[in-house]
Amino acid sequence: MAITDRAKAANSKAILVLRNLDEEFVSENGYKNAAMQDLRKRDSIVCKKCNLDNEIPSFDVRSMQCRGCKWIIWITADTFYHRVRLFRPRVVIMRWLEMGIIVSANQAAKLLTVSNDTVNLIYKQVGIVVSKLMLDNTVEEPSFYCLDIMDRRSTETPAREPAVAEEFEIQATAKETTDSSNDFDIRITLLNENEQSIFEVLDDKEKSFDQISEQSQLDSSVLSSTLMSLELYGLIKTAAGGRFTRNDVQTATALKDKTELKNQKTLVTTFIYFIKDYFQGISRKYLQLYFSLHWLSFDRQRWKINSLRNACASHPHISYDETLTYVTSPIVRFVPG
Ligand SMILES: [Zn+2]
Repeated sequence: MAITDRAKAANSKAILVLRNLDEEFVSENGYKNAAMQDLRKRDSIVCKKCNLDNEIPSFDVRSMQCRGCKWIIWITADTFYHRVRLFRPRVVIMRWLEMGIIVSANQAAKLLTVSNDTVNLIYKQVGIVVSKLMLDNTVEEPSFYCLDIMDRRSTETPAREPAVAEEFEIQATAKETTDSSNDFDIRITLLNENEQSIFEVLDDKEKSFDQISEQSQLDSSVLSSTLMSLELYGLIKTAAGGRFTRNDVQTATALKDKTELKNQKTLVTTFIYFIKDYFQGISRKYLQLYFSLHWLSFDRQRWKINSLRNACASHPHISYDETLTYVTSPIVRFVPG
């Protein structure tokens, strides 16, 4: 896969920053101490056994005794660093992000000599922490705005379906539970090239699959998945015998507000370029977490040096299972960049 110029530039910066950090922290132990210092900034630790508040010692320890019940309390317990063996990858990745340097999981794994899984886990945990901090200045939009970049399969992808089927499925489920007639208007502005050409071929007269295929010149596998998405968007109807027409009642209103709706979609455009430049494509499942990385990539006012480390140090532990079962909701939240 081709590496974009933007990603190349980020990789070179990442290497320099890594070199500087290795000089500053010297060894894995140095990185560990830095993380421990972050954790000691917390006011106190509540003992799990007796619920007593304990002051955190200022000297360098990983564990302490509860002043009430004498139970051994680990400074890292239930924190971002819970059971972490290697601190260097975490501290380095957080510094990269605090500097707006985005490195793909592959590249980060190479630079840090850890597995892709380790990097992916760190990215997901950081992403979860950061997405919870997106309270002010956020925009909420339907996840299908990002359909173009959802090309990686995940555990949520239906069997034998392309990666985007995950989005169709979640939208279909959302449709069942809410009245989505309002967001219908948006959909027409989101059509990709194929969808648009098929939509233009269709009118209020019923057409068969073969007729549409002939007029649109799309091969039948592309055509059938495209028809499926148009139908899920509610833009077309299937009549008896597998014949298709436009869903006219709705398209009339949809076309009216096209300009306004285009503006709304523009908000995610920079995000889509961000994904294409750094990750090529993503799975739908983790879409929201990539919005976290995007925010980190451009907002230097909010994300200064050590700000991410502090945010993570004061966040409770996010387990591996929690990252596995994470699923982006049909409405994503993001800071427009
Ligand atoms: Zn205790």
